[in-house]
This record gives sequence, C-alpha cells and structure tokens, in this order.
Amino acid sequence: MDPARTTRYSNAENLTMFPLSEALRPPRPSWDEYFMEMAEVVSKRSTCLRRQVGAVIVKDKHILATGYNGAPRGIDNCLELSTCLRQELKVPSGERQEFCRGSHAEQNALTQAAYHGVKISGATLYCTHMPCITCAKMIINAGIVRIVFQNFYPDDLAVQMLNESRIELVLFADRKM
Ligand SMILES: [Zn+2]
Ligand SMILES: [Zn+2]
Repeated sequence: MDPARTTRYSNAENLTMFPLSEALRPPRPSWDEYFMEMAEVVSKRSTCLRRQVGAVIVKDKHILATGYNGAPRGIDNCLELSTCLRQELKVPSGERQEFCRGSHAEQNALTQAAYHGVKISGATLYCTHMPCITCAKMIINAGIVRIVFQNFYPDDLAVQMLNESRIELVLFADRKM
C-alpha cells in the first residue's frame, strides 16, 4: 500500500474538505419510505413468474421478518421449473391461488416469524401490494395493527375485513411520484 495514499484517506481534515452539498444530497427517507423501500428490495427475490411481491414486518423500527412470494423451503419453485400451473391453465389474477407452488409474500413473512419464534403482534406490515383475502385473514390473526402497501390489489372482501378488524390500512404515496 502506498503510504502517501493511506495518509491521505485517514486524514479526517481532508474528508471535511468535501462536504456533501445540500442540493446534491437526496432527502432523508421517512420510516415508512425506509421500510417500503426494503419491501421492494425483498420482492426482488421472488420466484413468481407473474408478479414480484415483498413484505417486511416491523415493530419499534426493527425488522422482525421478511417474505417474498415463492415456493416453500426446499421445494422447486415456478422460476426453476420455468412454468406455473396458473399460466398453463390461464387462471385470471386473484383466482385459484392453490394452482401455484408459491405462497404469498405476507404468508412467507408470517411463517418466517413462526419458524424463528418471533412475536409479531402489534407490528406493522409493509407490503409492495395490498394483501389478498387469504393473507388478510392471517394478518388479522397474527395481531398486525397497521398495513402499509404501495400497489392496490382489487379485493373487496379483503378491504372489508381489514376495515372491520380495525387494522390501519395505509396506501403508501411515494415522494418520487
Ligand atoms: Zn406459480
Ligand atoms: Zn395474499
């Protein structure tokens, strides 16, 4: 290592010579923005051929569990098989969930918490998409108190039951939009 270089980079005074301009610095994200962006990152691991969904369960600004839509642990997923029964049978979106190897992101986040014995009652669920009716029922019983989601999913019964449950349902509005 060149000693001159080492000296240059370990000199704290030099670092202050280049303060990040206020104008160039991106706005600091709110907590909702922070965790929603993480849900988006999580969704990238999805193995679904149709839609990539990510979920993050948070309590006291602490991530308790994450999940994306995909097949159960150790089971071949739709991506590996390059096919999904839903596609083969041309099942419309939102119908016949059982015709797929994958489980939903929310379900995978809930079961990850169960696997690790993590208590999630009182937590917030950040999800890239609004939960479907099956996930909504599980979310209610898991004791989630707030759901923040980014993309609306047309499921009237899910909305109705979530409202009845008094879970706070928040449609996330991206500051970039
Ligand atoms: Zn599938
Ligand atoms: Zn679902």
